Amino acid sequence: MANSINDNYSINELLVNKNYTNPEHLYIHIPFCKKRCPYCSFYSTIYDNNDNTKDLFISALLKEIKLKDFLIAKNIRTIYLGGGTPSLLTSKDLEQIFNVVLKNHTLDDDIEITIEANPDDITKDLVSEWKNLGINRVSLGVENILEKHLKFLGREHTASNIRNAINIISKQGINNLSVDFIIGLPDETIDDLKENFKLLINNDIPHFSTYLLTIEEKTRLAKLIKNNPKLMLDDDKIINNTLQWYQWASENGYHHYEISNFSLPNYKSKHNLAYWIQKNYIGFGPSAHSYINPVRFWNVTSLKKYLIGLENNSLEYDYEIINKNEAYNEYVMTRLRLKEGIYFDDLKNKFGPKRAQYFANQACKISQKYLHKDQNRYYLTERGWLIMDKILVELFII
Ligand code: SF4
Repeated sequence: MANSINDNYSINELLVNKNYTNPEHLYIHIPFCKKRCPYCSFYSTIYDNNDNTKDLFISALLKEIKLKDFLIAKNIRTIYLGGGTPSLLTSKDLEQIFNVVLKNHTLDDDIEITIEANPDDITKDLVSEWKNLGINRVSLGVENILEKHLKFLGREHTASNIRNAINIISKQGINNLSVDFIIGLPDETIDDLKENFKLLINNDIPHFSTYLLTIEEKTRLAKLIKNNPKLMLDDDKIINNTLQWYQWASENGYHHYEISNFSLPNYKSKHNLAYWIQKNYIGFGPSAHSYINPVRFWNVTSLKKYLIGLENNSLEYDYEIINKNEAYNEYVMTRLRLKEGIYFDDLKNKFGPKRAQYFANQACKISQKYLHKDQNRYYLTERGWLIMDKILVELFII
């Protein structure tokens, strides 16, 4: 469904009488990459330094922020620049974005401002400019330290770029650094994983995310695997390797606080936690999602349509209104991603005694090896996380 926000009322009408809370968490999607990686399903277009598309995008983005300004909370707690590749923006681009956001809003004293970055974009000047702009967290797309795996993933950066980037970020004084890994890659051995883990230990990295390689539909990797299914590791090996990875994390003081995320004390991602505990958030840029309970809405997934729309002060978006059963399913899914899990009383307060009883009955059918019950609290074990999809089928209300 295509709607227009040029009068702001179309979103307002959806929210009217909903007694909603204005989002304190902002996501800004930067839809450019130097090259598309074969496994990636995030929305982005190829960045061309020689045309003015990026400038047109920045102008459109500033307009979108102004159009939706009335939805943003007075006090902002987190800002996340994701993509795509936000490290392709200049500090002038970023300054313009922050100036528009801050016109009518203040930043919380504990504000977390994260930027996603590719290791080969990192320079001393760039990081120093980020710091001056108030960016205090970097999420670095390392993916893997081994050249053979970087090549398989189609990444441009090298192990030396990665080490250099980590060094620069820490020397410039941004201590809150997260690195992303992709594991479960063809031919991956325990020794390969150990090399990756050493990167964390040798550089005192306080936070990391680990994603198992997944084959997303319509990606180049999906085609490659379809033609060579034997390329993928078998399930037993993936489970074995992944459990070893988890064990190293625990032995080295990392708290596995979310299915894919690990942190040293006080370094959990505040922005992502807001998603996992169903806080309202607002997204800007093509394909960006927003959630203002009970409405989820998302921008058109096309830079071209986004630019044309905002040129005419309108923006194509779609939305859904989440009903109580859907909200229960989302709550169960996102809360069980967290080690904290689900507190039965909280579930009952939010969704009523019938749904809570349904949850308890279904949970009883799942082995404690996967879903643990500790007095009033239910949480998945690390083995449970490895089969989370199957567990959710049992717990969802269909
Ligand atoms: S993985 Fe990152 S750099 Fe690669 S295409 Fe996706 S968003 Fe772009």
